[in-house]
Amino acid sequence: MNRRYALVTGGSRGIGAAICQRLARDGFYVFINYSSNEGRAREVLSQIEANGGAGELCGFDVSNSAQVEEKLGALAKSHGPLEVLVNNAGIAIDGLLVRLKDADLDRTLDVDLKGAIYCTREAAKQMMRARKGSIVQVSSVIGQMGNAGQAAYSAAKSGLIGFSKSVAKELAGRNVRVNVIAPGFIETEMTQGLTETQKQDYLRTIPLGVAGSADDVASMAAFLSSDQSRYVTGQVIGVNGGLYM
Ligand code: NAD
Repeated sequence: MNRRYALVTGGSRGIGAAICQRLARDGFYVFINYSSNEGRAREVLSQIEANGGAGELCGFDVSNSAQVEEKLGALAKSHGPLEVLVNNAGIAIDGLLVRLKDADLDRTLDVDLKGAIYCTREAAKQMMRARKGSIVQVSSVIGQMGNAGQAAYSAAKSGLIGFSKSVAKELAGRNVRVNVIAPGFIETEMTQGLTETQKQDYLRTIPLGVAGSADDVASMAAFLSSDQSRYVTGQVIGVNGGLYM
């Protein structure tokens, strides 16, 4: 069977889960990565299967480079090369710069930036050999415009943009594309912690006047994963209701 393989990191909930569902609907065999919540990842797989799609769970911590190398290498051996990698896993540890703890800075960079770099590096090896691939990074509008109280997060997310542009140039000759989605304010568990006042403050700055959904981001990920975007690489695409233009 000629399967097309996609790996989505942090696929057990939120935007990652929506991307897994959407790519499965588009015909990909989806590897659903999770780091700790196997139960939620299994629910995502069950929904995919109930809708006639296919995939499997793939547990590893993106910030552990040895685990990433081992897991992605094993997937290529047992199944075949990845055609799509979506680096969605991320954490946000918010706080003012002057109170920023080294451990929080390290963890943010380790997961949000280095984790995506580790996964991109391993997937690139497979995709370059196959001379086909699409890597989609999930950055953030905060990496484009900054935000008080999110210095570490924005450093990681804008680092991901610079990294992706370099790698897009490196890999283009092998028909491997690299693009970045920069979501704005999306309703997920990550944003559930905001107070009602904070939410209203955000909404006032969004020209379309509403928060986005995980499916809005998944639609863009599906486009960038598909051959419909075959001439698109090195781009940063906002899914943000006009919050940043
Ligand atoms: P979420 O917290 O619901 O999901 C993040 C996922 O990443 C979780 O499944 C979590 O388990 C996983 N993860 C965290 N650390 C990991 C690790 N070390 N290894 C593997 N997986 C790990 O958040 P979300 O809102 O769905 O966010 C998904 C992505 O979108 C993140 O990169 C986030 O920064 C980005 N983003 C979200 C918003 C938003 O408004 N929700 C806006 C801009 C960008």
